[in-house]
Amino acid sequence: MKPKKTSAQFAGDASVQPLRWTVFFGDPQQAREPPGAPELLGGKGYNLLEMTQMGFPVPPGFILTTAVCKEYHGTGGSYPVTLVDEVNRCLKQLEQLTGKGFGDPNQPLLVSVRSGAPVSMPGMMDTVLNLGLNPHTLQGLVTASGDERFAKDAYRRFIHMYSSVVLGVPHAQFQDAASQLKQSTGISEDHDVDPDKLIARYLNIVAKKTDKPFPSDPMEQLWGAIGAVFSSWNSPRAKIYRKIHHIPDTLGTAVTVQAMVFGNRGKHSGTGVAFTRDPATGEDTIMGEFLINAQGEDVVAGIRTPCQISLAEARAWAQRQAVGESERTAKYASMEEAMPAQYRELIDLMTRLETHYRDMQDIEFTVENGRLWLLQTRNGKRTGRAAVRIAVEMENAGLITRKQALLRVPAEHIEQLLHPGLPENHGATVLARGLAASPGAASGQIVFDADKAVTLAQTGTPVLLLTTETSPEDVHGMHAAQGVLTARGGMTSHAAVVARGMGRCCIAGCGALSIDLANRSCRIGDHRLKEGDWLTLNGNTGEVLLGRIATIETQTDAYFDTLMQWADEARRLQVWCNADTPEDARRGRQFGAQGIGLCRTEHMFFDSARITHVRQMIVAESRPEREKALQHLLRYQRDDFRAIFREMDGLPVCIRLLDPPLHEFLPNESLEMRKLSKLVGKPVDEIIRRVSALHEINPMLGHRGCRLGITYPEIYRMQARAIMEAACELSAEGVKVLPEIMIPLVALPEELVFVKQEIEAEIALVMQQKSTAVAYSIGTMIELPRASLVADKIAETASFFSFGTNDLTQTTMGLSRDDAGRFLGEYQKLGILSEDPFVGIDEEGVGALVKIGVDKGRATRPDIKLGVCGEHGGHPQSIDFFHKVGLNYVSCSPYRVAIARLAAAQAAVR
Ligand code: ADP
Ligand code: MG
Ligand code: MG
Repeated sequence: MKPKKTSAQFAGDASVQPLRWTVFFGDPQQAREPPGAPELLGGKGYNLLEMTQMGFPVPPGFILTTAVCKEYHGTGGSYPVTLVDEVNRCLKQLEQLTGKGFGDPNQPLLVSVRSGAPVSMPGMMDTVLNLGLNPHTLQGLVTASGDERFAKDAYRRFIHMYSSVVLGVPHAQFQDAASQLKQSTGISEDHDVDPDKLIARYLNIVAKKTDKPFPSDPMEQLWGAIGAVFSSWNSPRAKIYRKIHHIPDTLGTAVTVQAMVFGNRGKHSGTGVAFTRDPATGEDTIMGEFLINAQGEDVVAGIRTPCQISLAEARAWAQRQAVGESERTAKYASMEEAMPAQYRELIDLMTRLETHYRDMQDIEFTVENGRLWLLQTRNGKRTGRAAVRIAVEMENAGLITRKQALLRVPAEHIEQLLHPGLPENHGATVLARGLAASPGAASGQIVFDADKAVTLAQTGTPVLLLTTETSPEDVHGMHAAQGVLTARGGMTSHAAVVARGMGRCCIAGCGALSIDLANRSCRIGDHRLKEGDWLTLNGNTGEVLLGRIATIETQTDAYFDTLMQWADEARRLQVWCNADTPEDARRGRQFGAQGIGLCRTEHMFFDSARITHVRQMIVAESRPEREKALQHLLRYQRDDFRAIFREMDGLPVCIRLLDPPLHEFLPNESLEMRKLSKLVGKPVDEIIRRVSALHEINPMLGHRGCRLGITYPEIYRMQARAIMEAACELSAEGVKVLPEIMIPLVALPEELVFVKQEIEAEIALVMQQKSTAVAYSIGTMIELPRASLVADKIAETASFFSFGTNDLTQTTMGLSRDDAGRFLGEYQKLGILSEDPFVGIDEEGVGALVKIGVDKGRATRPDIKLGVCGEHGGHPQSIDFFHKVGLNYVSCSPYRVAIARLAAAQAAVR
């Protein structure tokens, strides 16, 4: 494109209405107005406008705002009345600026029609390039460019893109036609194909498929493409993406119509993508890929192996791929070598962009006949590890504040740093290597399509998705899978970008993989595998390994430690962990837990040696019988508590007394029944009778929690004794023990009074026997709506509350956590629920009960300690809520402690 200066046609002309639904950009004469908001222009349009205002080389164009999209969907598919007029005016201005005419057979103006929502939705909407071509303008393009091959290549691409995006002709039909033509003529490379033949075939496909000739009127093409972008806002794949990423459906997308520049005009042209920092590690170095003589998404689509931007990167790449230096310079020369001037300009622009946006940028660029054009910039997606490093380094460089640094890293992404890796000496066979596109390691059963990934994952099986390349249609499958392996594509391919964003491990561009979809099998190098076979991906190294390997935790780094230190300084909420074993306790402590918020005693019972004694206790029909069994359990429990207290030296440990319905422990196989009958010396018949007597219709609302402790006080007494004996013994050894005893499922203040009396009596006995005094506290779970509602009365007896938001959600919503999966998905699809209430707390309902409990508890006992121990305690959004209602701590699984620390800090600084 040769830009030609003109005066802005409408500037200062009072008879012309100002543009209302559209915004023009790229006219150097145009007044520099504030760019408006990304909400209106979409992220892509907003940044294009901003770049033109910074004087960067951006092809001119105009934006149809998100307001048009809202109008379009609000009215069931019509545009504002003045829109056509505005678009015509913008086109005129574009023609004048470029010196070309839209539909002009001599100097045809071609445009791209691009979508762009206010938040980045990579790949969710489709872009149409080279729009405006038809047999007449094609001739014009041939003449104007003097390059017939280029012009026809552009036309072929246009028919293909327009037909699949706008007219709904399946993508594959064009690919098939192209490969058939290649096969029949014995050609292997796309650009060697006779373009006329291909164009004829393409036009044929479209005519057959749509019963109409391919539209040749550029105006019809333009409005078709605009309509397609707006309707794609409500396509299923866009909706799924928005759901996964919690993006409101109401935002709408903008459409950008932009003059084309061409990267496919020979060896002085090319196209590429680049990041201002390494999106995998966060290292402050330009990272990117480009292709000479290519257009648009060729790099992302993984059609050819892209080259690196910088020489250093190209050398590192060659080493990893075992490509020799002479082959590298011949076939994979970096942009720095191939186009040194444009490379320098690119680096300069990228540096300025990053300083301007104060965040890592992901840019798209094209070089047309030696001239560099920027086509997009946005904040780049990155791994959790990279996010941490970039935030810390940008804070250190004074680009962002500490508060911004804390908010820059999505708390969920911390998880990626704690992601599993593989043991050094796993000994498994390396089948192949690909690009380490997204970190972590995963073993799973292989599947070859996204839907299969979803169905298999629903059965609880870890799944790996293997495909040639991924596209937006595969996003739900990638989400369901533990890892993704693709045969094609580079570090910026769709698979790589999406997997990094989701925190799935991903290996891309594994050339050794070939998939035979028809037979549900694949080859990786010399190995043949079928669907359901086990495979392991190491996203940290790019290795594809045969079979299943147990993964191990990875190491955090100094950047992580720094960010966590900042988080700890900023947060008000404490973070505790849920831990049932000494190992859990140790891990939680390593991750920074400040106590144990939930130690579930029943998990200690399932050990095979112990379970028989538990059963003995349950089938006991008299107190002395029961006490005999409890004697055994006392010893086990005391040892467990000793070990946990020792790990948590100096930190509080909140132990919940027996909670689940007894029937969960009962034997249900005849072998187990016989074993039990032998142990307790009762006939099998009698055991069976006792077991069926204990049967409950609705055990979750049945004989469980403190109801057990009230009907069998000796059980809770035994547990209190085990806790305090362990505490006294360790305390005598100099360990600082801070036991908290927690009573589950309290609904009535009287329940707590009763249980507390019983266990305090037992505790007094223990201390007397041990002649040691250890401070302890007794509190309760708040997990029934009634408990929240009468929390002021319960607080008279309880010195702490721990909100058990799992049960509180079940009982408030009348939802069974174990069964709700069947319909909650449908609820989310229909928009009745925006999120699974067992994942993120239902603030309005369940959260209101938490708030009542907090207020009432504090009213009675101002210094009452308040925490949460449900799954929500590790969920960032819920943590924000718990911060707001004023809890003292959240407790979550050890692996989520770091996430919770960061989320708590974000809640505090937000
Ligand atoms: P996406 O949102 O999928 O990234 P884009 O709108 O950025 O889609 O377009 C896809 C590709 O087409 C990009 O690589 C971009 O560089 C290229 N492209 C878009 N508009 C133009 C244009 N006017 N000239 C040349 N290439 C373009
Ligand atoms: Mg795209
Ligand atoms: Mg883009």
